[in-house]
Amino acid sequence: MEIPFRRHTPYDQQFATSLSRQHRASVTEKVQRMEQDVDRDARLEAGECLTCYYLRRPRVGGSAMTTWWCGLCGTPCRHGSTAVPKVCPPCSDANHLCRECGGDLDLRDRRRKWATPVTATAPTQTVGAAMQGTMPATNEDDT
Ligand SMILES: [Zn+2]
Ligand SMILES: [Zn+2]
Repeated sequence: MEIPFRRHTPYDQQFATSLSRQHRASVTEKVQRMEQDVDRDARLEAGECLTCYYLRRPRVGGSAMTTWWCGLCGTPCRHGSTAVPKVCPPCSDANHLCRECGGDLDLRDRRRKWATPVTATAPTQTVGAAMQGTMPATNEDDT
């Protein structure tokens, strides 16, 4: 592949600087909104963590109705793009996990309280899941 020569003019330089400045302002604003968690209620209602809600929108994905399976309970779900969530809303709500990335909703570390499926119908592991290794099976320290 080859991309033909195109002169970088003073106008291009000025335009690029302006775009980068706008981008900086936009990112800075997003970070400030995230740090203050200004939409906390709406964010938790949407079931998204701080970064997914404030920084990772809009999500990049192909526009196609996509079937995916909740990573915890294995329930098949439908999504409007190929950027599918990780866990279904009931599993997200029950485990305080981000639906999009599967991390903690408030970005807290967890050492003992691993997420559990809301239903007992989690499918038998696929080859891929078995090869990735699994989470600790029990929460012996939590009740
Ligand atoms: Zn689920
Ligand atoms: Zn997330």
